[in-house]
Amino acid sequence: MPAPATVTDTIAAISTPPGRGGIGIVRLSGPEAASIASQLVRLRHPLEHLEHAHARLADVFDAGDDDATRIDEALVTFFAAPRSYTAEDLVEIATHGSPVVLELLLRRALELGARLAEPGEFTQRAFLSGRLDLTQAEAVRDLIDAQTLTQARQAASQMGGALSHRVAPIKQSLVELVALLEAGIDFAEDDVDVTPRQEISRRIAELTPPLTSLEASFARGRIVHDGLTLAIVGRPNAGKSSLFNRLVERDRAIVTATPGTTRDLVTERISIGGIPIELVDTAGLREGSPQSLNGSFAGSLDEVEQLGIARSREALADAALVLIVLDATQPLNDEEHRLLAAVVGRPAIVAVNKSDLAESARSENSGAPGPSHLGTEDCIILDAPGPSHLGTEDCIILDAPVLDFKPRESSAAGPTGSQTPAERSFPPVVSTSALTGEGIAALREKILALATGGAAAEPGILTNLRQHQAVTTTLAALADAATANAAAIPHEMILLDLYRALWALDSLTGQTTPDDILNLIFSTFCIGK
Ligand code: GDP
Repeated sequence: MPAPATVTDTIAAISTPPGRGGIGIVRLSGPEAASIASQLVRLRHPLEHLEHAHARLADVFDAGDDDATRIDEALVTFFAAPRSYTAEDLVEIATHGSPVVLELLLRRALELGARLAEPGEFTQRAFLSGRLDLTQAEAVRDLIDAQTLTQARQAASQMGGALSHRVAPIKQSLVELVALLEAGIDFAEDDVDVTPRQEISRRIAELTPPLTSLEASFARGRIVHDGLTLAIVGRPNAGKSSLFNRLVERDRAIVTATPGTTRDLVTERISIGGIPIELVDTAGLREGSPQSLNGSFAGSLDEVEQLGIARSREALADAALVLIVLDATQPLNDEEHRLLAAVVGRPAIVAVNKSDLAESARSENSGAPGPSHLGTEDCIILDAPGPSHLGTEDCIILDAPVLDFKPRESSAAGPTGSQTPAERSFPPVVSTSALTGEGIAALREKILALATGGAAAEPGILTNLRQHQAVTTTLAALADAATANAAAIPHEMILLDLYRALWALDSLTGQTTPDDILNLIFSTFCIGK
């Protein structure tokens, strides 16, 4: 913890959001908070003392003199140092949420000697007084910014110290190792045994796994925190906009039977399992587009549609996740083959849409070749020009719960556990009907599984780049220490690496974070927090 700061000034801010509301709160923190507050409002029972965590009724007047007119009533709550949010004397004055009243109170607080609080300064004071560490302070901001319940839960757990608790035993072991080496150096002449190299290496090796798993937790933390973009791509009329609307749960994108209606990107933020997902509905990828995957150009599309297709390509390239929509009633075209081949190894899902029509389309075509990608074995034939590892006649089996694809000859044997990594990286397939809603729940589940990489929620995860950087630096410094130890380098030098690791680990909780970085972090908070 940083040494408690000696704060002498009293800060004030309107802590509720700008604009009108049912109530609004002016907050004061610092040594003069109570005395300024008692001059700002008139307590209904003037003899009453402000007691810790007790709300008192008061009146707000338009001026400080005896002729003043009462303009509002207020509830004044006092929190005595050190049991307040900032660990200083803190007063919250809740009035009706009128900007006029709140601004009057703030202006008078400043006239009475308070200073306007910087963004995040209340939380910064909580941090400087040691009431919160930096991960907890960041969690306060994350909670305020949370857009989904999962984000709020995650922030609340971090605010409760989940991350700090996870780091504490790692730090303890690191400090013990440092102490061991320091003792060996300090007391070398007093016959204190020098720590054997194997012992140092064992202790460093023990520190690595918990740090590595902490580092890996950032994958989920970042997704919970920032969410992901999912681009919906496919040929015109496959049902992209209809699926988009199903996922958004309202008619956001225009759906028509005329191919090429979606000319521009339509985006909407949704939450799946608490993970924020930015859905991007794209223009259908049509053959003949100058931007088609193989760059061929048949010149049959108008300029607006071509621009739409170009944007779709960019969205496809940028998105973390891709949803390829195929039309279950149509044979795969070359563009779709290329699309499927292009997403191998990328996080993608294939939705075979219009499942409600698929059966009838199949029976209508019985005897005839039929929609070639939905043969009797429910199999998307990836015949050409697929990536080389797919061979010439591979297929996606549509009725398997998780995607399974294999050479056509062996597909009758059903899914097996003997897939190659390349096979496993092929997208999962889900059969959907945007019309009836069939398969939409399964599609959501697949999106969630893909977004989280199947990682389960765990307490104390890294949620921002700063935290991640602190852990990677710790690991790198430990690796240097291990190398130095293996090379029998003097303990003084190994200690330099270990101190670097300790410094980086401490910066996670803010103990060694430089002031300018701290100021930068707290400036991202809102005023009054
Ligand atoms: P997009 O061009 O890929 O965005 O396709 P749309 O969502 O605009 O849909 C094209 C046409 O297919 C519209 O007439 C939709 O009503 C229809 N459609 C979309 N999904 C389904 C489905 O699952 N079943 C049926 N029967 N029709 C669908």
